[in-house]
Parts: sequence; structure tokens; C-alpha cells
Amino acid sequence: MKPIKPIYKMIRNELDEVREGIEVIAVTKQVGVERTKEAIEAGIVHLGENRPEGFLKKYEAIGDGATWHFIGNLQTRKVKEIINQIDYLHSLDRLSLANEIQKRAEHTINCFVQVNVSKEDSKSGVLPEETVDFIKTLEKYDKINIIGLMTMAPNTEDEEVLRDVFKGLKTLQQQVAEKNWPHAPCTECSMGMSNDYLIAAQEGATFVRVGTALIGSESEAE
Ligand SMILES: *Cc1c(COP(=O)(O)O)cnc(C)c1O
Repeated sequence: MKPIKPIYKMIRNELDEVREGIEVIAVTKQVGVERTKEAIEAGIVHLGENRPEGFLKKYEAIGDGATWHFIGNLQTRKVKEIINQIDYLHSLDRLSLANEIQKRAEHTINCFVQVNVSKEDSKSGVLPEETVDFIKTLEKYDKINIIGLMTMAPNTEDEEVLRDVFKGLKTLQQQVAEKNWPHAPCTECSMGMSNDYLIAAQEGATFVRVGTALIGSESEAE
């Protein structure tokens, strides 16, 4: 496995050239605790996991030594296992999940609403045209603070397609932010992964989620 620090520096520089202040979430779902600790030693603050089991394994070893982002689909019955340990949830996409968070959270949870901008059947997320109404409905949930929107781009190398998706999320994020709803400041855009983080940054990402290109995968032969 390649050392994380130089790769992180390179990605940081690329992002800083686009705009200051874009946060990198290192996605550690494909590596173990030791490699995750290497990420922290390299100066990475934000870590992302997509399954409760993987998150809890790392959380038990690292605890408050990182800022924790849960980026995967979250089954309602798993909410109680993680909700009071994470700092950000990137996958709020339905009222049943909001209800369970409201019931289980002991403090306000910073949430991204996941939006299915590309409208692929295989993807979860609220549809773009339903996003503003969905967020309005969340007004009565005092445990939920909508800090932004998140999307997964299609698996394509077509830059125009990717740009359109990222632009779509940015436009929606600004629409929600303009409402000035106290429960939904909605200042953030979580978009961009290993193959497209730079495009996402150019289109207004404030958080990019990078796994393979930064942390690698432990099954990867070197
Ligand atoms: C795995 C994952 C990522 C990171 O993917 P890479 O292509 O490895 O960078 C980002 N976001 C989500 C939601 C993921 O599940």
C-alpha cells in the first residue's frame, strides 16, 4: 500500500487550487484499523464509513480522534447502533429514517439529504423535484439539522454527465439555503469520489468523499 501522506498532500493541493476550504472525507470502508490510523497521522480529520459494522470497528479503536461521517444507506433498525457516535449522516432519504433518528438521537444530528440527481433506479435518494418539500417536512424534527445535500454521481467517465449531476445538486442546495429555514441552513454539498472529486470541486463541492484514490483497498495487491 502506498503511504497516505503524499497522496493526501497532492489531493489537498489540487482542491486548494480550485477553492479554499473544501473538506476531504477519507473513505476507509475498504481498509482496517491500522490503515485508518495512518490516515489520521497524515493529518486527515474527516473519516467516512458506509456500513455500521465497519464504522463501529474503527470508532471503537479511534473514538473522538476523528470526525465521523456515515455515508452509506442506513437501515432504520441500525440507527440506534451508530447515531450518537457519528458527527454527520450523509444519507437521509426518507421520513421513516428521520422518525427513527428523532427517537434515538441524544443531540442534534447534522444530516445531508441524499438526492438522486441522476434518477438512476439503482440509486437511493430523494428525487430532485421532491427535495425542497421533503426538507420542509423535516422542520418539526428538532434532532435533525440539514447542513447540506449529498449525491452519488453515475459511474461514467463522461465529464459532461458528471458536471450536470454536480451542478444539479449545487442548484438545489442553493434553493434550499435561500429559504432561510432555521432547521436547514443547507450550506454544504457532499459530492465527488476518487474518479471525479476535482470535477465536483469545480462545481461547488464543500465535502468530497475519497476512498480508493487516497486510502486504497486492502485487497489491492502492491
Ligand atoms: C465508497 C464510497 C465513496 C468512495 O468511493 P471511491 O470511489 O473509492 O473514492 C464515496 N461515497 C460513498 C457513498 C461510498 O460508498
